[in-house]
Formats: sequence, structure tokens, C-alpha cells
Amino acid sequence: MFTKPKCPHCEVELSKLDAKRMVVGDQFGGTFWYGIVATCPYCKTVIGVSIDPADALQKVAAEIAELRKLLAPAPLIE
Ligand SMILES: [Zn+2]
Repeated sequence: MFTKPKCPHCEVELSKLDAKRMVVGDQFGGTFWYGIVATCPYCKTVIGVSIDPADALQKVAAEIAELRKLLAPAPLIE
């Protein structure tokens, strides 16, 4: 039988969490990342934090675009 998780602070059984997009740090190559902060909807205790997957995907796509520019063949000189 599945038991609902409890908030570690107020001990209310949780069936959902609140989530908010926030800047969580600047330790990744001098830039910042957005994270998803999940909180208890009753007492607002932070339950967990993760990188925002949409922001991570955008940053990886930008890095790939920069690498493609570096690896592009040099134009032919005639
Ligand atoms: Zn709580």
C-alpha cells in the first residue's frame, strides 16, 4: 500500500508540492542556472531543488552552436 510522503517540517501528508523557478547559483562556468524549487504547500519548507530542464536544454544547445562554429571548416581561399 502506498503511503503519501510527509513534509519533514510540518509532517502533513503531501499529495502535491508547490514549485517555483528560481536562480539557484552561479557556480557553472561563471553563468547562472535556473532551478525548480519544490516546497511544501502548507509551511513552505523546501523539499527539493533541481535544475530547470528547459534552462539546461537551452544552455546545452547554445554550447553546441558555439562548438559547431569552432569546428566549421575554414572557407576555401582561391
Ligand atoms: Zn510542511
